[in-house]
Amino acid sequence: MTTYKLLLLPGDGIGPEVMEEVSRVIAWVNARGHAKIETETDLVGGCAYDAHGQAISDAAMRRASAADAVMLGAVGGPKWDGVAYDQRPEAGLLRLRKDLELFANLRPAICYPALADASSLKRDQVDGLDIMIVRELTGGVYFGEPKEIKDLGNGQKRAVDTQVYETYEIERIAAVAFELARLRRNQVHSAEKRNVMKTGVLWNEVVTRLHQESYADVTLYHILADNCAMQLVRAPKQFDVIVTDNLFGDMLSDEASMLTGSLGMLPSASLGATDANGHRRALYEPVHGSAPDIAGRGVANPIATIASFAMCLRYSFNLGETADRIERAIAFVLDEGYRTADIAQADCRTIGTAEMGKTIVAALDRIG
Ligand code: NAD
Repeated sequence: MTTYKLLLLPGDGIGPEVMEEVSRVIAWVNARGHAKIETETDLVGGCAYDAHGQAISDAAMRRASAADAVMLGAVGGPKWDGVAYDQRPEAGLLRLRKDLELFANLRPAICYPALADASSLKRDQVDGLDIMIVRELTGGVYFGEPKEIKDLGNGQKRAVDTQVYETYEIERIAAVAFELARLRRNQVHSAEKRNVMKTGVLWNEVVTRLHQESYADVTLYHILADNCAMQLVRAPKQFDVIVTDNLFGDMLSDEASMLTGSLGMLPSASLGATDANGHRRALYEPVHGSAPDIAGRGVANPIATIASFAMCLRYSFNLGETADRIERAIAFVLDEGYRTADIAQADCRTIGTAEMGKTIVAALDRIG
């Protein structure tokens, strides 16, 4: 049986509460002999600042680099509002993304049938929805130089952000999208603004060439990013994989995720390059934050974090069948009418964080 090393970084607020439920699922995976997952736990975010004066220690970074994958809960909270910019809790997350070179952010938008009525769209538009947004995470306008505000000396200022992409950055993110599509419904929409942006022209050119050279079996569509935003609320089920840059991906992934209901349901993965041994650096985390308003009350929804762990099994540990089973167990529990407070519905049973974790683990055996 293969042994995998997983670093757990529960973080702040509800992070440790939802990570506890992942530990319960890991214990099930180990006990049923699907794999041997060895875990280590370390600090990130505000709790790391309290302990070490920095949002992630060098020792924790070394552990993250050595692990087969990293699972993160959430960071931040009002307690650290006054902390210097470089040491704020989010700096821990940014360092992980930067030092592990996690250039591909995967955000699935899945609508569980039991929750379709909670969407702001009509049930028939979202029931069974399953989109994967692949966002470039380390380049583009958030990082391009120059990035500055200049005082023009005449009572005016000029602010500049720079959108910049090089061929290799577009190639590697597009390759991730095509590979994912092959595991899904074999269709990629590449979203950019080639009509008004040079980076869009290059993006389109590189994706087209890569498709012809290496992924001609995948159906590729080019779509303008603004049209993509409209189509996501008009007819979202037309999409399988959407690949796009950092800025458009930020917007489109938030838009798509809200088609499916609560923040407490949304997983994510951030992937890096594959090394010579075929090992790909990866960080898995829920989309939500540390939810200080409900932290410590045992009511947080652990499904986003458990679903992030399922992504870890699929993309880092090559345990796709176990990942499928966890996702089916989540759907089963929702079908049975179990809900946490954030997704509470009339005629359903509202349960707490730990009970939801235990109910999902029980379902893992029941669905067989
Ligand atoms: P948030 O995601 O923490 O919470 C937004 C709302 O959603 C809150 O009402 C919260 O109770 C609810 N919510 C979030 N996750 C939930 C869950 N699993 N179950 C039930 N309800 C849930 O966003 P925020 O309030 O804007 O930010 C709070 C803190 O988290 C801030 O310090 C922010 O910087 C940080 N943050 C961290 C991350 C991260 O760690 N990746 C992401 C976003 C925000």
